[in-house]
This record gives sequence, C-alpha cells and structure tokens, in this order.
Amino acid sequence: MRNQLGLTILMIAGAAIAGCQPSAAGPPGGQLISDKQTVSIYELAGLLGLRVSESTSTHVTLKNSANTVMIFTFTGGQVYLNTKSLATVGRIGRSGGKIHVSKALVSQIRSAMQTAPPAIVRPRSLSGCVVVDAGHGGRDPGATSCLGFYEKTVNLQVARKVASLLRQKGLKVVMTRDNDTFIELQERAAIANRYSADLFVSIHADSFASSSRRGFTMYVARSASWSSRRAANAIARSMAKTGLNSWGTRKADFRVLVHTRGPAVLIELGYLSNYTEARLLRDSSFQNRLAQAIANGITEFLG
Ligand SMILES: [Zn+2]
Repeated sequence: MRNQLGLTILMIAGAAIAGCQPSAAGPPGGQLISDKQTVSIYELAGLLGLRVSESTSTHVTLKNSANTVMIFTFTGGQVYLNTKSLATVGRIGRSGGKIHVSKALVSQIRSAMQTAPPAIVRPRSLSGCVVVDAGHGGRDPGATSCLGFYEKTVNLQVARKVASLLRQKGLKVVMTRDNDTFIELQERAAIANRYSADLFVSIHADSFASSSRRGFTMYVARSASWSSRRAANAIARSMAKTGLNSWGTRKADFRVLVHTRGPAVLIELGYLSNYTEARLLRDSSFQNRLAQAIANGITEFLG
C-alpha cells in the first residue's frame, strides 16, 4: 500500500515537472544529462545490476534488493533513486521499440546507489550424536582387496576422517573402534544405543566375485525407519558427487542395523575386488573426498 502510494506521487511529480518545466531546467538537486552516447533501458539495468520491474508508456522502474530507480521516459522527465530526485533524464531516444537514455546515467545512478545489504547467513548450529563404526577390526580383517590390503584398514581410515569432519561441525562423535581391535557386532549396536545416537553409520568396503563390479551401496535394515532411509538417501546423494557409481539404498538385515534402536545405515564404500576402486579406496586424498561426502550427507540429514 505504501509503495503504491509512493509510486503514484512520484508519477504525478514526474509528469508535472515534465509538463511545466523546460527540459534544460532540472529540479533542485538534479543535473541535466547531455551525453550523446545512449543505452537502452535494459542495458542500463544490466550495467547497474538492476532488473526492469515495470515499464509503462511514461516511466520505467528498475530494482534490486536495495535500490529502486524510476525514470520518466519523456524529454525532461525525472530520474528518481530511492524516491529522491537524482537527475533529469535528458534526451530520450527510441529505436526498435526500445527506449534509449544517456549513458551518463549509468555512472550517475551507480554513484548514488545503496550497496545491497549482505544476505544474512545464519550458521546452522548442529547438535546431535553420531556413532561412527569402522567395520571389522583385529582378528576380523573383512574383505581382502585385489591389491592385498584389508577392508578393516580402509574402513578405519575413512571412519576417522568422517569422525573428524563431524566434530568440526560441532557434533558429538563416538567411534566404536579407533584402532585395530575386534569388536562384536552386538556391541557396536549397543554403543549406539547407549549414547542414544541420532545416527549410527557403519563403514565397510565391498567385494564381489566379478572384478568388474564397481560402486558404493547404502544399506538400511528391512524394517528401517523413515529416518534411517532419509539418512541413507542423503549420504548416497552426497557420495554420488565423488564420481563413484551408486547402487542406491538397499535393504539387508545386517546385525548392526537390526540391533540399533535409532536411525542406522551401513555404507559399502566401493568394491575392493575392483582394481580401480581398490586403488581409489587406498588413496588418502580420495578417502578425504569420500569422508567429506559422507559427512555432508550426515549433516544434511541432521540439519
Ligand atoms: Zn565389511
């Protein structure tokens, strides 16, 4: 309502000035623009970082979040910036259906424009507890990669990186193991339950008879809650950005998933039976990317 009223007043003022005064005489504070170079209204808007929000037979309005420019498009019409008179528009040209104004307006308007206030970005404060479970360990090596290293080693390396990234986000992180120890599956789930974890993430790497199979897989229990599935999908979406093939989210009753009361997912990072993926999973910088993707998926789920 206030805006509409303001607009009407300005239009009357613009028209009145145009009708009553010669084009050479601007209002107090305004300057006459006389520059042979011209720009179309759309070019002017582009040069000023404004958009054309209104265009009528008498005026145009250009806007961004901090500025409103009104230009009365007849000889002697006024240019208003944020309701203040800035200049007379000078000569108006029309070509190809487009209105052209003096290029000098660009610098004149720009120098008087308000800087757009920076967008307020509120840092999301994350809270919650994540239990990160590095699969296997100790006497249980898990799968053996085609390059000879064990799954338990990669699982721990990636789990540590994920844990560290989540801690940096302010989350409480508990690792079921932080070294090469054997822990019963039941105990892993019990740890998550003891801490009432907001998410239990078990990290594994896959193996298959055919060495050509590649890609990561997310697992949730067959009776998984909506939260578990949401977490799995968020992590899968994020992990797909690393370039690994995605097998999506599958259902399987792994014991660690079945015995965890809260949301629980299991990640198979990729296939150790595939030469390319075995090399990638062993590579520390790829592990960083993978861990970052997993952590991003987790924070998206918890955010
Ligand atoms: Zn495993």
